[in-house]
Amino acid sequence: MKSVRFVTFGCKANQYDTQVLREALLRRGLAEQKENCDLLVVNTCTVTAEAGRKARQLIRRVHREQPETQVCVTGCLAENEPEILRELPGVRWVLGNGEAKRPVNFLRELGHEVSPEELGIPAGITQFQGHTRAFLKIQDGCDQACSFCIIPGVRGRSQSRPAPELQAEVERLVRAGHVEIVLCGIHIGHWGRDLGLALPDLLQALVDLELRAEDGAPLDFRVRLSSIEATEVCDRTLDLMAGHPERIAPHLHLPLQSGSNDILVAMNRWYDTDQYLAACDRIRGRLDRPALSADVLVGFPGETEAHFLETLETSRQAGFCRMHIFPFSARAGTPAATMGNAVQPEQVRDRRMRLSEWASQSSEMYARSLEGVEETVIMEGFSGLSGRYQRIQVDPSLIEGPPPPCLRVRVSVEEKEALDSTPEKRSYKVVLNGTPIGQPTAQGSPA
Ligand code: SF4
Repeated sequence: MKSVRFVTFGCKANQYDTQVLREALLRRGLAEQKENCDLLVVNTCTVTAEAGRKARQLIRRVHREQPETQVCVTGCLAENEPEILRELPGVRWVLGNGEAKRPVNFLRELGHEVSPEELGIPAGITQFQGHTRAFLKIQDGCDQACSFCIIPGVRGRSQSRPAPELQAEVERLVRAGHVEIVLCGIHIGHWGRDLGLALPDLLQALVDLELRAEDGAPLDFRVRLSSIEATEVCDRTLDLMAGHPERIAPHLHLPLQSGSNDILVAMNRWYDTDQYLAACDRIRGRLDRPALSADVLVGFPGETEAHFLETLETSRQAGFCRMHIFPFSARAGTPAATMGNAVQPEQVRDRRMRLSEWASQSSEMYARSLEGVEETVIMEGFSGLSGRYQRIQVDPSLIEGPPPPCLRVRVSVEEKEALDSTPEKRSYKVVLNGTPIGQPTAQGSPA
């Protein structure tokens, strides 16, 4: 086999896992190519039935168009439904998670007998191909048992990667040019429990990491926590975030799932809405205008209109800068799949739409609150992502030469065209502009 194509479905942890496999195969001399590849590696997701359907559809299509391509399916769907995947045309290998996905085992399955030393890959990855921001998986698995979630069954219990290994990987990624490192996993708030440590210990190590280029210039970078449970954002984490806003982005993605206590119980979540909102208040009391985002599921079995209105109200009180709203999708093998009491699809659609309307108003209110703040923007062309997870536009005429990888700016809010200007529902598209502060240094940080 000479060429390989990778396709990834699902979460940041899966995207990270793909990069690990990519580096292993490219080091064995394979070249990455999209068309007519010898090998297709599909890293799958099984969180929703739709994710599984899309992966199967892709495999069938590739086989139809390129019957010579051999297919290796890995990831959560491969762990959960290996028999179904083995029956698909062109599929030669079905490798789940865990041991099967370790680079040496993965290569062995594909016919490359190689020792870890020969492979020459440090634990983890050396770059995050094609991106300014790099994902770094700090742990895998989950010890909870939410009634809608299949993940603990396919990824096992929480396993943390050691802090020195992660520190070395952050250094490698920063030296490779990544200026933002997103700490991801399946349940990152549990990082360290199996090592006798806690997440703030890792954050402290990353705050203490001082990197310099060969010429002695500081290599600046920031880390961002990906999804973390609201009840697991402890005071030490907040102290580190408050004390080092340039090193740890003031953004927290706090899965809410439902804003109704009855539904949270049915979901087997471990908090109620008062505890969730108290966590949001605690974070706001400690950080300057933090960006709080959330996942919410609508149409969970038994969700009534009254439950939904409670979710709407909790979301209002939480004041999210962004909401990811998912319709409930029954996953075979989870308790929720056999609960009955399904919500009618048209009701799910209606609730999703009403919550989305609130979500866009809430995003707009948050964006307006950022007038005058200073932000470091990770640039992609002449716009980029701020620490508070906002897209910021920078006027090209304000930058000399090509855009730097990151830029310190002062934010101003601009109202664009009216989206809906009826008196009852006045809403505008809000654009955030950034005016550069100081001159970017070689790595893009302010002078
Ligand atoms: S906390 Fe719940 S939703 Fe999140 S991975 Fe664990 S079981 Fe799934």
